[in-house]
Amino acid sequence: MDTIYALASARGKSGVAIVRVSGEKASLALSVFGVDRPEPRRAHLANLTYKGQILDQALVLYFSGPSSFTGEDVVELHLHGSLAVVASVLSALASIEGFRLAEAGEFTRRALENERLDLTQVEGLSDLIEAETESQRRQAMRVLSGELGARAQEWRSDLVRAAALIEATIDFAEEDVPEDVIPEVTALIERTRGSLEHQLAGIAVAERIREGFVVAIVGRPNVGKSSLLNALAGREAAITSDIAGTTRDVIEVHMDLRGLPVTFLDTAGLRVSDDVVENLGIELARQRAETADLRLILVENDTEPLPIDPVEGDIVVVSKSDLGSGDISARTGDGIEELVQRISVSIEQKASGAGLAIRERHRVAMLDTVSYLGIALDRLQTAPDQLEMIAEDLRSGVIALDSLTGRVDVEHLLDEIFSSFCIGK
Ligand code: GDP
Repeated sequence: MDTIYALASARGKSGVAIVRVSGEKASLALSVFGVDRPEPRRAHLANLTYKGQILDQALVLYFSGPSSFTGEDVVELHLHGSLAVVASVLSALASIEGFRLAEAGEFTRRALENERLDLTQVEGLSDLIEAETESQRRQAMRVLSGELGARAQEWRSDLVRAAALIEATIDFAEEDVPEDVIPEVTALIERTRGSLEHQLAGIAVAERIREGFVVAIVGRPNVGKSSLLNALAGREAAITSDIAGTTRDVIEVHMDLRGLPVTFLDTAGLRVSDDVVENLGIELARQRAETADLRLILVENDTEPLPIDPVEGDIVVVSKSDLGSGDISARTGDGIEELVQRISVSIEQKASGAGLAIRERHRVAMLDTVSYLGIALDRLQTAPDQLEMIAEDLRSGVIALDSLTGRVDVEHLLDEIFSSFCIGK
């Protein structure tokens, strides 16, 4: 297999730039620069000399496979973060026979192939690199540290044990010594199913943490929706804001709200209108508001009818308090802090149910497993003598579970998963 290399840190000028090399011949990345191989995992300061010239003074690290990120021999060159230094080092590496530039995600892919990471950890790593808020970082770290994989391992060994008990019964059936394994098998399957169902219940929440909770600001025109959004964006860290289009478009602002990723939507004003184009905007606004995680319903005084019916967790706010009575004023900032507090409490409640599984892919694998376990449990009740069928259900359940951690046949998924990685990762 080729030895791969790439710039692992971000492109551009920086204090330090790290070039990573992985593969059988990784230590040639040292000898080509006239550097002796340092002891594994020990930083070593060295001049990188190439064709009689010193390219840079660098900190050099060597990891001996399999004790490395990829499981192969790895060399890291910590260079001064200059465009010219990085370019000269990369071109020297390119000249080594058997060396080539890594593809996107290829270091991590090798880590997966060498079983340094399981597939859920690869996803956790990808999420960690993408994380923008504290809750996203925490969630990604839990997955990267292997908690989901470890849980899957427990489920797997319970199911394998249940299947083994049944297989043993089948083998002994003719000698009629089988003790009754049905109660233990049933208990193992029920426990596993319960634990899987518990994790499944948290996936929707975990997906929200990855992708952001949506808060729709709704109200009739001129009630102060855009002004409120601006006041919020000015106060909290706006990650990005796509303030675009006409006032009839839905405007989104992504924010880090006390560590939780939140997207605020400023929707078109809700009112009865004859204007076809405006009605389209109003319809879109209603739909977005309905699917949002939380609605902030803005009114100008608390006697007017609400533009939509609130559901539990929604927040009704009276705007323009500076003109008389009300809860908030986008103009003076009055009440905005308290509003942010109310929104974060409401979202924290929604975020608290997150589990270990965080992706649609996990959901599919776990649902498949649960359905095989359901079939096995039914059979144990209605046809407990069909032991071979029950063993087969359990095996199918284990195979479905194995796709979670990438133990089986997930080749078709890998390209998709790794395409989201950058080169050098
Ligand atoms: P939207 O149509 O609901 O988005 O409302 P806007 O945010 O565009 O505001 C409509 C009008 O109300 C504008 O003239 C704003 O300057 C004014 N406005 C918004 N918020 C406040 C506020 O807190 N106090 C006062 N006095 N005026 C406000």
